[in-house]
This record gives sequence, structure tokens and C-alpha cells, in this order.
Amino acid sequence: MKILVVNAGSSSLKYQLIDMETEQVIAKGGCERIGIEGSLLKAKGNGKEKVYEKPMPNHKVAIELVLSALKDNEIGVIKSMDEIGAVGHRMVASGEFFNKTTLVTEEVIKTLEEKTFELAPLHNPPAVTGLRACMEVMPGTPMALVFDTSFHATMPEKAYLYGIDYDDYKKYGVRKYGFHGTSHKFVSAEAAKYLKKDPKDLKIVTCHLGNGSSISAVDGGKCVDTSMGFTPLAGILMGTRSGDIDASAVEFLARKKGMTHAEVINYLNKKCGVAGISGVSSDFRDLLAGQEAGNARCALALDMFAYQTLKYVGAYAAAMGGLDCIVFTAGIGENTPTVREDVCKNLKFLGVEFDSKTNDQKANGRILEISAKKSKVKVLVIPTNEELVIARETAELL
Ligand code: ADP
Repeated sequence: MKILVVNAGSSSLKYQLIDMETEQVIAKGGCERIGIEGSLLKAKGNGKEKVYEKPMPNHKVAIELVLSALKDNEIGVIKSMDEIGAVGHRMVASGEFFNKTTLVTEEVIKTLEEKTFELAPLHNPPAVTGLRACMEVMPGTPMALVFDTSFHATMPEKAYLYGIDYDDYKKYGVRKYGFHGTSHKFVSAEAAKYLKKDPKDLKIVTCHLGNGSSISAVDGGKCVDTSMGFTPLAGILMGTRSGDIDASAVEFLARKKGMTHAEVINYLNKKCGVAGISGVSSDFRDLLAGQEAGNARCALALDMFAYQTLKYVGAYAAAMGGLDCIVFTAGIGENTPTVREDVCKNLKFLGVEFDSKTNDQKANGRILEISAKKSKVKVLVIPTNEELVIARETAELL
């Protein structure tokens, strides 16, 4: 069976077509600038790439174009749409309304719209727009929703609750939900496979370090805590997100900067993090270049990022009462050896023996073991694959 994985944003739509027999990606691409002038689709298939510069006033037109690219006589990989057995949609937030991959029905969409849009106003509404567009263009094809939050549904109450009035948690659903669940799930399972261990016997901290970053504690194959919260703003500082900040400082900043609540939250999401600290960029390649050139604020941003990551690893080792493995993944986790080294060099006391030489190698899509052979705690670099998890979950559901 072939499964189409769709990740729709407000003006973008990324996709992969995965052959489930081989779990290989047979076509992929993305539409950009949907609803904006200059929209285009970059599509890959048959080892070739093609760029379609066509007006895409909405997601329906975008998905129609994607399907025609999948059937294109040059880069196409299917003859008919019937070859697509199902579509798996990435959905960011579930609230407490869905705790696992869910087959789409009108009832499900209604719950999404009524209950989850306000939880993730930037992510869930465009994802549902993409979903509706797919349903229109591919009637009869089963659609599944795979939530970023599902893997974190196993967190115990003591981990996901904030110290607020319990009745308010119950009434409004204000609690930690966590994000990047598909990635944490994938790399923790891959780590167990690589170490030839039963996931039940492993205490793993997974560090998904990308433009958005989150860290999870995975005990016995289940998530028991994670650094992102009610929204993806919480946890360590990120590309442009502040990470954890005293709630009183938020109100103070709003007052000083003359901002509304919404404006200050936007500021904390878009103008802070390593970009705000460095004043240079959210991209770690720019920060590393800045540090190299003697820019003290780039160095500070990198230092803060590693320090905050380190603190979560330590906290989660304590929460699990031990640590067998640390996994680094995503753009920064897979490509920035200095961050990994800065985190691990302070973890000797937990039994981490670091192998700097292997750490400096390029992972190039492979699993890298960057702890020394004798290290009690294994440290691995594992390329993440969120689309494959979405495809697998969709196939399982069917
Ligand atoms: P997201 O999916 O959250 O947008 P990614 O996982 O793609 O983010 O991570 C983006 C980050 O990864 C950027 O800060 C970028 O600098 C970093 N990154 C990607 N490739 C490299 C590289 N080759 N060297 C250093 N950093 C890299």
C-alpha cells in the first residue's frame, strides 16, 4: 500500500508518498505561498525534480496540483489515485480530546474545530483546511489524523499539570501537552533497536533540537515527561522562541513594550530565543560562524542553548531514576557536534563517556554512537523521520 503523508500550514503544504512495503519515500515535495502571489510546488519523483509555478489560491488547488505531480509523465510515480491507500495528516494539537491516531469523520472534524483550534490557532486551522481539501479531491480515500501530542498522552498527572487551581485545569484544559511526539517516538524506538534492547528496559532522554526544540523522558518505551507545554513556547530557548519564562515577566514586558497579550506572545514566539539573544540569526550555522568570528552574543546564545538542554537531561534522569541512553535528533541535534559535546561533557557524573572523535563525524542519515564503548550511558545521533511515523500509524489504523 502507498500512503500519502500531508503536513499543511497556513500557506504551505508538504507531502511524502511512502510505499509501505519498503517504507521508502517514492515522491515528495511542497507547495509554498498558497493564497499568496507567486505560489509554487517543488516536487520530486523518479529521481528528478520539477518546479510548478502555478497560482494556488487555496489548499484545494494545491492538493490537486500535488496529485497531478504524482501522476506526471516525467516525475510521476503512480498511474491512478486508487494506488493511494490512505492519507495521514499531521495535526499539532489534540487537547485531551484525542490521545491516539484517529480516523477522520465529520464528527472528528467538528471536535477539532470546536475544541482544539483555540489550543493551536496557528497550526490546527490550516491543517484542517488541508484535510478538507484532500477530502474533497480524494473522496473515498481514508484519512487519518496523527497528532504531535499522542506520544505524550502517557505522562502522569504530576508531570503534565501546572501548579494552578485544579478546577481551572479541568475547566479549561490548561496543562502540558507536549509536541514533536512522532519524532520522540521514532528515535526512542530506533535507539532500542540499535542497542538491541527491549524498549521496556530502557530509560532514554530524547533531544529533538531543531528550529523548534523539545526534550522528552522515555521510560520503558513510554513518555513520562516532556519540555514543551500547553503550547510549543515552553521548554528550552529555541530558534526564535523564548522557552520557559516567568509568567509575571510576560505581563511586565507587555506593559513596558506597550503590547497586547497576543502581541507579547507573538514576540516571545518569533523574536526571542537564540535569535533574540544573539541579535544575529535563529540559524545555528550563522551562530557558529558568529562565534568563530568572535561575536560574544552568538557564543552566549549557543552556551545558553546547550546549558538549558543539559539541565533537562539531568532533570529527566532524576525523574526516571536513571539513564541508559541520550538521543540527539533534528536539524541541530543531527548536525551540530559542538552542541552535543557541550551537553555531554557535563554528564560524566551520570556515567556518560563521550567520544569526541566520532561526534565530529557527519551522520549523513546514519545512526552515530558518540559515547565511548565503555560508557554506561549510550549517546546516539539518530536522524528523525516524522513522516514515516505518520505513514506507519495510518497504515496500522487501517
Ligand atoms: P524545524 O523542522 O523545526 O524547522 P530543523 O529540524 O530543520 O527545524 O532544524 C533547523 C536548525 O537546524 C537550524 O537552526 C539549522 O541551523 C540547523 N541545521 C541544519 N543543518 C545544519 C548543519 N548542517 N549544521 C549546523 N546546523 C544545521
